[in-house]
Amino acid sequence: MNYQHILDEIYDEIQPELMRGKVADYIPALAEVKKGQFAMTLTLEDGSVYSVGESKKAFSIQSISKVFTFTLALDIYASELYKRVGVEPSGNPFNSLVQLEYENGIPRNPFINAGAIAITDSLISYYKDEDRALDVIMNFIREISANPQLSFNKTVADSEMEYGDRNLALARLMKSFGNFENDVPGSVMTYSRHCAITMNTEELSRAMLFLAFGGTDPVLGKEIVSASKAKRINAVMLTCGHYDASGEFAFYVGLPAKSGVGGGIVATVPGLMSIAVWSPGLNKYGNSHAGTLALEKFTTKTGLSIF
Ligand code: GLN
Repeated sequence: MNYQHILDEIYDEIQPELMRGKVADYIPALAEVKKGQFAMTLTLEDGSVYSVGESKKAFSIQSISKVFTFTLALDIYASELYKRVGVEPSGNPFNSLVQLEYENGIPRNPFINAGAIAITDSLISYYKDEDRALDVIMNFIREISANPQLSFNKTVADSEMEYGDRNLALARLMKSFGNFENDVPGSVMTYSRHCAITMNTEELSRAMLFLAFGGTDPVLGKEIVSASKAKRINAVMLTCGHYDASGEFAFYVGLPAKSGVGGGIVATVPGLMSIAVWSPGLNKYGNSHAGTLALEKFTTKTGLSIF
């Protein structure tokens, strides 16, 4: 298959869509990102890369970071983790408080904010320190993205914290149910910092390769997580990776994937490749409008969906 040709076609076809949607503005520092930008990269088993658009331009990965923190926590706690965080789709917006109250402080899944904050809390408990936990998260992503310089944008993290009352409320609510172990503001800050990591589509696509290949990074030749855990992470991406639009995403695209409000989406084609796409205009669910369409075009043109 001529992947470059397919990406070039998608690039041309997607142009009329790039100004649609709305850039995330509830984190003020993200509101400054210009619409109209687009990048898409796919990485194959041997590490070879095909890209279109601004694939070397870094953006805020936001909720995509939750895939990496879930991976680390699942590796440490295995099925014990599910006592604190479930694996069911929420059918609610990513920052909703309602369900958390009537489900006794146990978040539905690791990809809604409450679930991801609980996961970050579990990593802080394990590493006994916020900074150490953040270092472990960053070093993990540095290794699998092949970018040792990778860092987070402090302005974005501080901006999220300044307007982070809802995330703080989610953490406090979990604490009131006994499902939180560490200092609430410090843990939410650590969460905001890993959400504020900046990466481009080449790095993100590279970093997801282990999930496309049963938990083993084929370029590093290293098992990152067991095949069984990789299966579960992919399953949760498929069912929960796009919040209350996860069903629609599975319906139109048909790949395990995770979005972030920075406009990025990562996806895996199991056994074949990982894909990252970026376009900052978001649909009403907080997922990249053009990014979703580009992935839909990709699976339609190539027939590469899991269904
Ligand atoms: N950091 C963002 C938040 O907590 C992540 C949300 C997202 O990307 N959907 O609100």
